[in-house]
Amino acid sequence: MSKRLPVATQDGEAGSCVFCQIASKRSPSNIVYEDKRYIAFLDIFPFSRGHTLVCPKEHGETIWDMKEGDIAELFQVASKVSRAAVTAMEADGFRFVQNNGEAANQVVAHVHVHVIPVKMADRGRFSGRQRFTAAEMEEAARSIRAAMAKI
Ligand SMILES: [Zn+2]
Repeated sequence: MSKRLPVATQDGEAGSCVFCQIASKRSPSNIVYEDKRYIAFLDIFPFSRGHTLVCPKEHGETIWDMKEGDIAELFQVASKVSRAAVTAMEADGFRFVQNNGEAANQVVAHVHVHVIPVKMADRGRFSGRQRFTAAEMEEAARSIRAAMAKI
């Protein structure tokens, strides 16, 4: 835990961090999974339908701020979420993307793993950010939650 990465931040302090606000329910989000230590919710600027972010509830800017055992746990949760998201979105695969530092395009300074379901039709294509209606987002979250309950 020596070097710190430069992180683009709207304000990296835990009190005003947007993901801390989501984790503590001070900001609304489409939550698909939650336990004592982790939360998963839909990305508001998704690359695909069902694009989910998995975060530790405890604030830390990058993966280097986490204990190694917690890093493993975060990815275990992300793996479960990927099964639910792929099933619910009828996708054929998924991407894990985990950016650390401004140079890596980390936008929110709170550790998160992107789970991005992809369909065979989109193979090899990096799609841009997409927009879905609030109703479409709620429906995607609802179906991922339902799939999560069966994992
Ligand atoms: Zn935070």
